[in-house]
Amino acid sequence: MALNNLQYENIICEYRDIQNRNRHEMNRRIREVYARVPGYEELDMATGSVSSAFAEDIISGVPDALTRLHDAMDAHRRKKQDLIIRAGYPADYLDPIFDCPDCKDSGYIPSTHGPSRKCACFKRRELAILYEQSNIQNIISTENFSTLSYEYYQGNDLERFSRAVEICQNFVQNFKQDYHNLFFYGTVGTGKSFLSGCVAAELLKTGRSVIYFSAVGLFDTLARFTFDSKNKTDLYNLYQDIYECDLIIIDDLGTEVTNSFVTSQLFSLLNERHLRHRATIISTNLGLEELRDRYSDRVFSRITSNYQLCKLTGPDVRMLKKRKYNGTSA
Ligand SMILES: [Zn+2]
Repeated sequence: MALNNLQYENIICEYRDIQNRNRHEMNRRIREVYARVPGYEELDMATGSVSSAFAEDIISGVPDALTRLHDAMDAHRRKKQDLIIRAGYPADYLDPIFDCPDCKDSGYIPSTHGPSRKCACFKRRELAILYEQSNIQNIISTENFSTLSYEYYQGNDLERFSRAVEICQNFVQNFKQDYHNLFFYGTVGTGKSFLSGCVAAELLKTGRSVIYFSAVGLFDTLARFTFDSKNKTDLYNLYQDIYECDLIIIDDLGTEVTNSFVTSQLFSLLNERHLRHRATIISTNLGLEELRDRYSDRVFSRITSNYQLCKLTGPDVRMLKKRKYNGTSA
């Protein structure tokens, strides 16, 4: 899929807002330092005269004029930095401010050979728009590690849930260096989607590209693009996104109408992502045997050999929560 003009413009506007916000903050800091650090403003104003002192020598080609200019500028910079450090500010207090240092909040990373390429932060915004990730935004606003609760689990169920939480926390912590996949299975309402949401929330915070799909939504989207002959470029882009994003979450596998198209698409997705070492999280209410019977041996073997399997058991937590907030007893 590709952005339409309006969607593209919206992203560019967002970058402009970020640049403006950071420029205002920068100006505020400069005014603050001028007011609080005696001598700083004078030094700052004198920066131009440091270079003009060497102008004549540089123009007339005096041999080491440029080197002397650079030394003088360095000394001048150090003097300014000493002043702000001695006044109790961090050394980089007046350095340019960027939300994304990689692209300096432009969305693009320039290249010396060839056109500039989209920054990861642009890609993240693009995916959020294309795959209606408002869905995931809703989920993670209520389902994240800070709202996690063990109160609905007991005994073995509690043990399983605690272990799954630990696995998710390790998954997030080691995401950068380790390629890992998770498979949550078990009965309805035992926290499988909740834990996927927790992981998504943490990874989105660190700038990773995450696509969330319900199984129904994923296979619907794939079918729509595959069987629409006008949309070949869009189909290609869709595959690029779902094969390449840092993490894809497939929620509620098994709730879609499973047929040979679904089975082969699922296999390709698992296979391509495995080859590219891109992480996947799947949650399902199916048992392992049902999984094999429904999706073929090769899907089953991909999952059992490349995924960490987490079984969750217990009462339907969603029901318990609903009852609790409605004030009725079980
Ligand atoms: Zn960026």
